[in-house]
Amino acid sequence: MALRNQIQLISYADRLGGDLKTLNKALQELGDAIGGLHLLPFYPSNADAGFSPLTHKEVDPRFGDWTDIERLAERYDLCVDLTVNHIADESEQFLDFLANGFASEHADLFVHVDRMGEITSDDLAKIHIRKEKEPFRQVVCDNGDSSRVWCTFTERQIDLNWESPQTYALMEDYIRFLTERGVRLFRLDAFGYTTKRIGTSCFLVEPDVYTMLGWVRNTAARHGAGVLPEVHDHSSYQYAIGARDMHPYGFALPPLLLYSLLDANSVHLKHWLRNCPRNMITVLDTHDGICIPDVEGVLPESCIAALIDNISARSADPILRRSAANVHSVGAIYQLTCTFYDALMRNDDAYIAARAIQFFTPGIPQVYYVGLLAGCNDNELLEQTGEARDINRHYYDLEEFHQALQQPVVQRLLTLMRFRNSYPAFNGEFELNFSNEFSVDMAWRDGSRYCRLFVDLNFKTADIGYHDVKTGKLRHFRC
Ligand code: BGC
Repeated sequence: MALRNQIQLISYADRLGGDLKTLNKALQELGDAIGGLHLLPFYPSNADAGFSPLTHKEVDPRFGDWTDIERLAERYDLCVDLTVNHIADESEQFLDFLANGFASEHADLFVHVDRMGEITSDDLAKIHIRKEKEPFRQVVCDNGDSSRVWCTFTERQIDLNWESPQTYALMEDYIRFLTERGVRLFRLDAFGYTTKRIGTSCFLVEPDVYTMLGWVRNTAARHGAGVLPEVHDHSSYQYAIGARDMHPYGFALPPLLLYSLLDANSVHLKHWLRNCPRNMITVLDTHDGICIPDVEGVLPESCIAALIDNISARSADPILRRSAANVHSVGAIYQLTCTFYDALMRNDDAYIAARAIQFFTPGIPQVYYVGLLAGCNDNELLEQTGEARDINRHYYDLEEFHQALQQPVVQRLLTLMRFRNSYPAFNGEFELNFSNEFSVDMAWRDGSRYCRLFVDLNFKTADIGYHDVKTGKLRHFRC
C-alpha cells in the first residue's frame, strides 16, 4: 500500500518529552499537521544515538515498549531505521563470536578482513572512511581465535557481511518482525558501506549495491513495506534509487534552498526542480548535518564554497570527508552542523518560505522535530557530549515543547503543514511556472483542484493561492 502523501515528522523516541508515551502525546497535539513519523532508532543500542543497535526486535525499555510503537503505527505511516550496515558489539551474535571465535554459528555475520586477501596501502587509501583510522578493529576471542573485523563507524558498530546468507536471514527476520508491528517504510541506514570490494572505495560499489538494495526492496515489499535508502553522495545515486522503485531522499534540497534564500537566486533550484525524482522523500533537516556532497553538480562550486563560509560562521565544526582518494567534496566538507533555522539566521520569513518550497516540491516531505519547533543551536548539549551533530538534537521536555509551539513562526509553519496535508491537489501534477531569477512559482493541479505558491526570494515572502473546492472561489493567504 502506498504511503500517505502527508508530512512525516522525524523524531527520536526520547527527545520530545522523554519517552514514547510523551512523544505520542506531543504528536496528538499536532493533530493533522502530521501524517507519518520517522522514528529514529528506539532499539537497545550502545553508541551513536541509537545507531548501534543490539537487535531490532526489542524496544529500549527506557523509551517504552512495543505497545507504544504499535499505537504510533496505528495513527501514522511509520518509518523506522533498518541498520543494514552494522550491529552492536554487544549484540548476542557478536558476543557469541567473541566467546567462541570461528566456531561460533554467527562468525560469518561479520567481515573478517584477514580473509579478504591482500590489502595493499594503495587499496587502503581508496577506502571511503568515516574516522581517522582504517575501518578495522582487532579482536581476540576467548578461545584464542583472533580477527580484524570491519567497522566503518565507531568501534562499537561491527559491520555485517553481505556475502553471507546469515546477514540476509537476519535482515529478513527483522523486516518480518517490524512489519508485523506496523512499520510501513524502512530507512536503510548507511547502506552504501555494505559493498566491500578491495581495490575500490568500498562505498556504493555499482552495480553490486543495486543487487543488495533490490533484495531489501523485494523483501520489504513482500511484507507490505517500502524502502528509503539513505546515502549522501552525488545526486545521480538518488536518481538511480528512484528509478528502481524505491524512495530516494531529496538531500540536494537543503543546501539548494539555503543558497537560494541567502543569495536570493532561484536559478539552480528551478533547474533541479525541473528534473528531480518525483518519488522523493524531501527534508530540510535531519538528525545528521546539512550534507554538502548531495548538492555537488547541482550548485556550482563557487556557490557551495560561499554557502559553506556563510553557514560555518554559526555552526559547530563541520564533519569532514576522510578518504585520501575520495576528496571530491568542496573543501572536503561532508556535513555542516547547524539547525536549519539558525542556518537561515533565525529569519522567520525565510524559514517559512523554505518550508513552503519544500512542501510544494515533488515527494513526501519530512520535518525534523527541531525544525518543527524552529529550534536554535544547542551549544550546551554539544559541549557536554563533544558530538558536533548534537547541536541540532535538543532534548525538549513537554513544557518547553508547548512553549516552542506558541512561537509565531511555529504557528505559521503548522498552518502551512495543515494546508499541505489537506488540500487535495498534491497527488496530481506538479507545475513549475516561469518566474524571474529572484522568485519561485510552483503549483499542483488535480482536475479542478489547483494550488500555487509564489516565493519572492528578495523579500522572503511566500503566498499561496488555491481553488476552494467547496465554494468554487479562488482564495489566497500569505504563509
Ligand atoms: C545515520 C547516522 C549514523 C550512521 C551510522 C547514518 O547515516 O544517519 O546518524 O551515525 O548512519 O549508523
